[in-house]
Amino acid sequence: MSRGLLVVISGPSGAGKGTICKALMDKKPEVHLSVSATTRLPRPGEREGESYYFLSEETFRSMIAQNGFIEWACFCQNYYGTPREKVEEQLAAGRDVILEIEVQGAMQVQSKFPEAVFVFVVPPSLTELEHRLCGRGTEEPAVIRERLKTALWEYSNIEKYNYILLNDSVESAVMRLAAIIDAEKMRTERNAEFLTEVFKQKKGLI
Ligand code: ADP
Ligand code: 5GP
Repeated sequence: MSRGLLVVISGPSGAGKGTICKALMDKKPEVHLSVSATTRLPRPGEREGESYYFLSEETFRSMIAQNGFIEWACFCQNYYGTPREKVEEQLAAGRDVILEIEVQGAMQVQSKFPEAVFVFVVPPSLTELEHRLCGRGTEEPAVIRERLKTALWEYSNIEKYNYILLNDSVESAVMRLAAIIDAEKMRTERNAEFLTEVFKQKKGLI
């Protein structure tokens, strides 16, 4: 069985990554959305083990020491990381996996998993980004300012990604993300096992 496709989704805070990933799960329930660990406090409505694994800094550090993360990074004063075990297990089982992570972590994934696909989600404008971030109502004004400042640095890394996904309407962004995944899975180099089988059959014919 061939390994699953690893898809990394990044983009500035408030661009709509979480919204898009959640909607993608309804459209493609066979895809596994990785649950990250973080040291930030839960927002109202966020659930342990669903939105994130909410860890103390001490536990997070001990997971780093045990090589428990595929990647990790500090974003606006909190740590975030992708727990290794589940992702590797799902990929090995042939299931496609989505990581919704920020840019520093995505770059670590790029060096460890060069075959992964990298998608950068953008809002229609920076004004709209600010509007969405403020409208979400989950961060204090100072944190919003810090996240917007970080967004500018994140944009400067956009060329390291394979795809730019404009999140104008959620519905069309999700459709396009699903199309990216479908197309990537059809790439010749990702279908080596199928090709081997075809060549075997071809040999039998001549
Ligand atoms: P991120 O995960 O990138 O930080 P969210 O998914 O939390 O962003 O979205 C930020 C805010 O913008 C949320 O309030 C969400 O409902 C809203 N939002 C997301 N996508 C759109 C869109 N296409 N149009 C308008 N608002 C959106
Ligand atoms: P938030 O606090 O808004 O949930 O997330 C802040 C940022 O951290 C977002 O850009 C989000 O994509 C990123 N993030 C979430 N989980 C991870 C992770 O496991 N690793 C890294 N590097 N970033 C993450």
